[in-house]
Amino acid sequence: MAQLSDDCFAFGGPMMSVDEAVGLIAARLRAVQDIEAVRLRDADGRVVARDIAAPAPLPPFTNSAVDGYAVRGSDLSDLAGAVAVFPVTGRVQAGFSAQQPLQAGHAMRIFTGAPMPAGADTVFMQEDVRLDEDGRVVFPPGLRPGANVRPAGEDIPAGHAAVKAGQRLRPQDVALMAAFGLTEIDVRRRVRVAVFSTGNELVSPGDQRGEAQVFDSNRYMLMAMLVRLGCDVSDLGIIGDNRAALADSLNQAAGSHDLILTSGGVSTGEEDHVKAAVESAGKLVLWRMAIKPGRPVAMGIIGGTPLIGLPGNPVASFVTFVHVVRPTVLALAGAAQEPLVPLPVRAAFTYKKKIARREYVRVTLRKAQDGVLEATKFPREGAGLLSSLVDTDGLVELSEDTTRVDPGQSVGFLSYASLV
Ligand code: AMP
Ligand code: MG
Repeated sequence: MAQLSDDCFAFGGPMMSVDEAVGLIAARLRAVQDIEAVRLRDADGRVVARDIAAPAPLPPFTNSAVDGYAVRGSDLSDLAGAVAVFPVTGRVQAGFSAQQPLQAGHAMRIFTGAPMPAGADTVFMQEDVRLDEDGRVVFPPGLRPGANVRPAGEDIPAGHAAVKAGQRLRPQDVALMAAFGLTEIDVRRRVRVAVFSTGNELVSPGDQRGEAQVFDSNRYMLMAMLVRLGCDVSDLGIIGDNRAALADSLNQAAGSHDLILTSGGVSTGEEDHVKAAVESAGKLVLWRMAIKPGRPVAMGIIGGTPLIGLPGNPVASFVTFVHVVRPTVLALAGAAQEPLVPLPVRAAFTYKKKIARREYVRVTLRKAQDGVLEATKFPREGAGLLSSLVDTDGLVELSEDTTRVDPGQSVGFLSYASLV
């Protein structure tokens, strides 16, 4: 398990920006050190432990990019732009090598992916030629020598560091490993995260709900987000608003996890017991971030293990997860930080905001009549409205120095899919 110092999350100022939070996390957290080999088909989403260099050029041999006829480019330049008529000698299919080299002044039938016969360096597409009555192939003028050929190593040269340590493998990365002929990849072990909710008002779905209780929804959202980030998740359920019980659970979880994630109970009300429990079990710093929706986030260290306490309101929980938990998990996983890149869309709403604070607006996207993507704001504001996340497509990010948005203005959009 990661062993962090008690002052790991120390921060001087009264208020921290989102960028400061991410920078601090990336600089101070250490990645899990254990490495394991996984089979290729289990590699998607895992974090590569070491750079992977191409063991051979890709493609491994020069081959045809089309179905057609292979020729020598130098035979074409001798023709000075006239139509060429060549006898067809030989045939080479994908999966086989040519039986003989291509003779000067001849063409060879060839198919996509077949190795180029010795001497040949240019391929005519079959659609561009015709056969005359003697079975000779008639080529139009103007083809560039070297056309329609994929040289060995054109995709990736041998030895090139094709996938870097810290890459979270995507399907296309896995394809590349397969193209190299690898069967196993060394990856970091998954980050182990313990998740629990706090609050006497909470009850798990499936249990009897008391009159004044609500079903715990955050825990399921947070666990789902963690799984998407590749974590091994332990579900520790709900812990009531009881400092001793909380401290006990925290101490137990710390020994066997790389991160503890809680939601609820971190404001400064007298019924917010997570704060007090972390203070008694370890060290706690409240990060007041200049972000809306958001509330203070509790950053703790318990026996060397980091703890993040998210606000209880579902939307605040979601947004602070993206900006604090996501970078934390990436750092612990040994993955490169993956910056969020908002894409420009047109605002179809008016919005006023405070300067010096990052704000996120829940929006729905639709294509306007002129074809431009337009963002419509969810009509209500509350940080407790789960429907505001369910019925929208993503978040418009408004930078610290923005003070208002007017319809027609370009704004940055982050789809929910891009966040985890
Ligand atoms: P708190 O952060 O504990 O003050 O909670 C703020 C609001 O979020 C309260 O209305 C809580 O009932 C609600 N809340 C806290 N935790 C959860 C949860 N796990 N699922 C759903 N709502 C929650
Ligand atoms: Mg509470």
